[in-house]
Amino acid sequence: MTEEDVYSRLALLRTNLDRWSYEYHVLDQPTVSDADYDEAMQELLRIEDAHPELVTPDSPSQRVGASTAQTTFAKVEHPVPMLSLSNVFDRETLLAWWGRAQRAAGRETMNLVTEPKIDGLAVALTYIDGVLHTGATRGDGYVGENVTANLKTIRSIPIRLKQADDYPVPSRIEVRGEVYMKKSDFNALNNRIMESGGEPFMNPRNSAAGSLRQIDPRKTKARPLSFYTWDIGYLDGFPRPDSHYDTLQMLIQYGFETAPHPMRHQSIDEVWERCEWWLGQRDELNFEIDGVVTKIDSVYLQDEIGIISREPRWATAYKFPAIQKTTQVEDIVITVGRTGTLNPTAFLAPVNIGGVTVRRATLHNEDEIARKDIRIGDTVVVQRAGDVIPQIVKVIVEARTGNEVPYSMPQLCPVCGTPTVRDEGVAMRYCPNSACPARIREGLHHFISRGAMDIVGLGAKLADRFVDLGWIHDFGDIYDLPWDEVAELEGLGPKSAENLRGAVEASKERSLGRLLAGLGIPHVGERNANLLARRFHSMQRLEQATLDEVLEVPGMGAIVAQSVVDFFANPSNQHVIEKLAAAGVNMSDGEPASDEPGPLTGKIFVLTGRLETLTRSEAEAMLRELGATVSGSVSKKTSYVVAGDDAGSKADKAKELGVPILSEQDMLSLVRQA
Ligand SMILES: [Zn+2]
Repeated sequence: MTEEDVYSRLALLRTNLDRWSYEYHVLDQPTVSDADYDEAMQELLRIEDAHPELVTPDSPSQRVGASTAQTTFAKVEHPVPMLSLSNVFDRETLLAWWGRAQRAAGRETMNLVTEPKIDGLAVALTYIDGVLHTGATRGDGYVGENVTANLKTIRSIPIRLKQADDYPVPSRIEVRGEVYMKKSDFNALNNRIMESGGEPFMNPRNSAAGSLRQIDPRKTKARPLSFYTWDIGYLDGFPRPDSHYDTLQMLIQYGFETAPHPMRHQSIDEVWERCEWWLGQRDELNFEIDGVVTKIDSVYLQDEIGIISREPRWATAYKFPAIQKTTQVEDIVITVGRTGTLNPTAFLAPVNIGGVTVRRATLHNEDEIARKDIRIGDTVVVQRAGDVIPQIVKVIVEARTGNEVPYSMPQLCPVCGTPTVRDEGVAMRYCPNSACPARIREGLHHFISRGAMDIVGLGAKLADRFVDLGWIHDFGDIYDLPWDEVAELEGLGPKSAENLRGAVEASKERSLGRLLAGLGIPHVGERNANLLARRFHSMQRLEQATLDEVLEVPGMGAIVAQSVVDFFANPSNQHVIEKLAAAGVNMSDGEPASDEPGPLTGKIFVLTGRLETLTRSEAEAMLRELGATVSGSVSKKTSYVVAGDDAGSKADKAKELGVPILSEQDMLSLVRQA
């Protein structure tokens, strides 16, 4: 082929593949067979292999998602926060929401749009000049994770925007929507997992979330995910459409799928009728809907109505009631958690609840089992709602035959045989043996997991093997594995052992926050771990901290602070930390200690009123981070008063004393400059 031939062949293949993919995944109307599709894809890959310089980021081949070397997902800041919606639960609360929107807009009538709410994982897709550039998870609404490679494997996400009839290609657009798993795909996936002896996912939302956050995009590709759009975050290059409904039409023209049958309404009564209609449909659909979203249609009125306490006031979600079904309890099984808690789970006769097969339900603790008098063999009412783990609502006592077996929690740990204990006032029974293999295993799984030390290639199964072989008794042993023997393990080999050793070495560089999150300090998850790291900057300083000092960390509650101090007072924990330090694991985050001057050192801030994008404690933490002092009352010494919504007497006092008053935005730009 001449160079020109190669170009035109590539262009044709790419156009065809994109169109076929769109017809298949979005329109659900394929015009070619799967074999034809595959053949074209193979040809494209062959040509691109021979001409790597011609591979473009928007080529359909890029959906295959080459394995990347990344070990964690990079953070992505959302230029426009991804706020969550308020909920309404019935006609009355829907009308109350409408009344508030009417008052805020200053008008009686407004058009509304309804869409079914598919239960999935919100993501933001940024397209630059029509090409997918970045895809990020919602995260906390302000900062998400970059999962672009994984999103590219989802066929209903266009890699390049389609040519639209009524709109040009925007220079930049952020498309928002939901990644979800169809019910049929979910059930099939769970069947496959169970056939290979794995743990099934609890619901389609869980499985979508788990699939999207796979490190290896090829794994995501193997999971059947879908995407639908529900709005844009922003649009550059031309003015955005005037209404939400038209925005959806524009997105359809760009090649996206919306949730089915979005509808415009002229009254709130029509909206409620529509909500009831969707409720009647939900079992019939092949995707899980947990409610109906209602938005004010006019974008201008949306702005007028605005946002309050991090929720747009111009939209709300009607939440469906939970679905209930009856089934039998076949068994009650105990697992021992990382902190030693005995967690009972009911194994159920498989039951279809709203199109999803349910096999397990959480029983929480022994009080719950006693209160509901749940016995093995009982017929029970099970419910599932949204992303909550299925629960047993009640026992149908009339259905008892007399063969049911009452359940009592084991008096001995089912794993290590130690007598179990239950403290007064606490519902949980637990195994007090800190050397209990189950606790060590669970703790280890947590330590090596992605949110903590993130040791790639050391999965739960392999870690268990090391425990069984007696190589790992505590976290410190991970850094002292007998590598020659590891290389000889069945199914591993020198190459994998070498890679694993590299990953273990690399994990020594993890931040202090991750290390703290991994240690398994009760009540200290990722968020609290990061707060502690930011405040103390080194393990040594944190170990020496008094209860009062830990309590001073913004956002740290009394129970958490006590738990932190207790943890570091325990000699066996001290021993593990010493071992980790001796192995060369990073014990400080290298940032300046908080008593060194920051850019806002000497400035005294007072916060008042309700902030829009930050909570009070987040704002305080941010300011303290930069060296500022945050005070509770306004005086002549106050440098700035930050006033949010409904700021009261403090703002008045500031005016009186001539203290500058900042809006939240002013404060944020000050922080950015600092
Ligand atoms: Zn035990």
